[in-house]
Amino acid sequence: MSEAVKTEKTEKTEEKVVKKFRRPAKKKVCAFCVAGEKAIDYKDVAKIRKYITENGKILPRRQTGVCAAHQRELTNAIKRARNMALLPYIGD
Ligand SMILES: [Zn+2]
Repeated sequence: MSEAVKTEKTEKTEEKVVKKFRRPAKKKVCAFCVAGEKAIDYKDVAKIRKYITENGKILPRRQTGVCAAHQRELTNAIKRARNMALLPYIGD
């Protein structure tokens, strides 16, 4: 009985430690700004692929670090690429 209680306690403290030392989110910079690109080419599927999930959904800015202006461009490019059947509307 006392053994079980002990393990439960250690598990809890480990959980706390993990939470406390969770690596702070590294500040991401917009890859398109770094590359100095203004417009995003919808035909550049290899590049755009990185900004959609496996299911073909567009990743949010908070995950990719893309700036607002480029996210707008990116969304347009992805939608255009979908329309041209270069990218899927829904995952494979
Ligand atoms: Zn940008």
